[in-house]
Amino acid sequence: MVAQGLSEFELIRRFFARSDRAPPRAGIPSGSVRSTLGIGDDCALLGLQAGPPGHGDQLAISTDMLVAGRHFFDDVDAEALGHKALAVNLSDLAAMGAAPRAFTLALALPVADSAWLERFAHGLFALADSWGAELVGGDTTRGPLAICITVFGEVPAAVALRRDRARPGDDVWVSGALGAAAWAVRRRLDGVPLVATHPAVARLERPVPRVALGLALRGIARAAIDLSDGLVGDLQHVLDRSGVGAEIDVGALPLDADVDDAEPSARLACALVGGDDYELLFTAPSAARAAVAAAAASSGLSVTHIGTITEGGGLRFKGDAALLARLPPTLQSYDHFSAP
Ligand code: ADP
Ligand code: MG
Repeated sequence: MVAQGLSEFELIRRFFARSDRAPPRAGIPSGSVRSTLGIGDDCALLGLQAGPPGHGDQLAISTDMLVAGRHFFDDVDAEALGHKALAVNLSDLAAMGAAPRAFTLALALPVADSAWLERFAHGLFALADSWGAELVGGDTTRGPLAICITVFGEVPAAVALRRDRARPGDDVWVSGALGAAAWAVRRRLDGVPLVATHPAVARLERPVPRVALGLALRGIARAAIDLSDGLVGDLQHVLDRSGVGAEIDVGALPLDADVDDAEPSARLACALVGGDDYELLFTAPSAARAAVAAAAASSGLSVTHIGTITEGGGLRFKGDAALLARLPPTLQSYDHFSAP
């Protein structure tokens, strides 16, 4: 029971159990995983259908939890929150090159507010349906507002975009533009919030998971990660897992033009350590440049070549001295920092 008048089961039935299944979406490769039993039993059942080898032979599973006050501001619009809770999970599937299939939703709610739930479910399902992902189960309880989603996707083993596949000589690429979401957070924390209609607020509250790009990069990119915690930390995960280093050209970073009145050093800091971008960072052999460009064009995104994977040496930055001098202080003393 989460609230008087609306029982847990009424709440689930009214807002989350849908009789119509999410339709398969054009552009999402078919595979072997289908939901055969959704909400209403002790478990959801995902059926595995035989297909040709390599058709879709691995489940990709990821969980992300969003907690009020920690991952979002308490007053965020419920529809945007429903969107973002799923978007950050789909972003993990995108970073693996996986096709979304299904997800579960665990919700802790302080009160069962029908108007809030209506908006939350609307944002959630609009995004879910756009990728053919079906809500197959979850849990609902009373408690401080928190949302935990687990996504299930599918990717053939040979083309999964794993963090441990970067090789020396690979180009380092990043999709879209960086820093706007972190800048919107900073403005708010500094007591000078942006107007709700500012594009940077949309970047923060309604990130667009780069699923189409992840799928298009199958067989082209070697390693990939989605940028949730900031480029520097996230790239470091790829370097650690792959046992390689990287040299990043600070001047090549695609800084978001919507970060319009910040200091140049603040723009750089937002792009490098800000987080919440949900763009893809990936590596690919330099022979694949034309294929990378074609994959980006087919998914309607820009991609920028920002550096090179090196044999060792950790993470290094290059660029003109004035720009390097603007690196955030935390990076000036970064373990592996060295001037070009
Ligand atoms: P159980 O006690 O067996 O775990 P519950 O009574 O918690 O089952 O849930 C009943 C059904 O509703 C289950 O199929 C569960 O997956 C589903 N469910 C519960 N909460 C949610 C939710 N927030 N979204 C989607 N499905 C949910
Ligand atoms: Mg339960």
